[in-house]
Amino acid sequence: MRKTIVAGNWKMNASKDSVDNLIKDLLTGMDGITSEVLVCAPFPYLAQVELLIQGSKVMLGAQNLNTNASGAYTGEVSADMIKDFGARHVIVGHSERRSLYGETSAMVAEKTKAALNAGLTPLLCIGESIEQRDSGNTEAVIEKQLSAVIELVGIEAFNQIIIAYEPVWAIGTGVTATPEQAQEAHLFIRSLLAKNDESVAQKTPILYGGSMNASNASELISCADIDGGLIGGAALKAEDFLQICKVG
Ligand code: PEP
Repeated sequence: MRKTIVAGNWKMNASKDSVDNLIKDLLTGMDGITSEVLVCAPFPYLAQVELLIQGSKVMLGAQNLNTNASGAYTGEVSADMIKDFGARHVIVGHSERRSLYGETSAMVAEKTKAALNAGLTPLLCIGESIEQRDSGNTEAVIEKQLSAVIELVGIEAFNQIIIAYEPVWAIGTGVTATPEQAQEAHLFIRSLLAKNDESVAQKTPILYGGSMNASNASELISCADIDGGLIGGAALKAEDFLQICKVG
């Protein structure tokens, strides 16, 4: 039985005040929540969130990492630095990083490997654009993105990986995949894992991301192969995020 995981991706939205308020409001609403809850904060706020969540069941993640351990990489942040602030997770391959910063599937695979080597759990994002869906290439795109990672880190590593299926056309658009569309993609992803190892496939959490909110979370997360959500916009409002966390 896989646990429900709800992860917030704050993207580049935060200030010291907003982080204080958001985490304090989240913590007051955590009673009775059985999902695993995770917030992925921008780098400058990791230390602040680490202090605020101490002793709570909220976990901390980052949104990106550099593959090198240390050295002359101005402006970059390593996996060990992320871990130093108590984070246990890191998002890799978010579509915004693939499209805006030129991250290829090979680079995403290297980032996944670097996170794993440091003992972080990568939250690996994969998903198709609207053009790819409309031209019937959804499965081919997902397979290519996932295979690049499986080939580099091996299927066993997926015991330490969380996958997020995020159709690009649903991210930040208010257009959510229907439960049927999402379940179909999740089942396909699980079948790709199962081709390599059935037991790993059954254990790997696959989250849905793309305009998930308090109103649609329940019908999505109740699908057989959807194990939770990666939440952008709705993760910035404690009330909405808690509502989603309660679904699990
Ligand atoms: C995301 O950025 O991963 C995401 C799913 O965003 P949103 O919920 O705003 O669509």
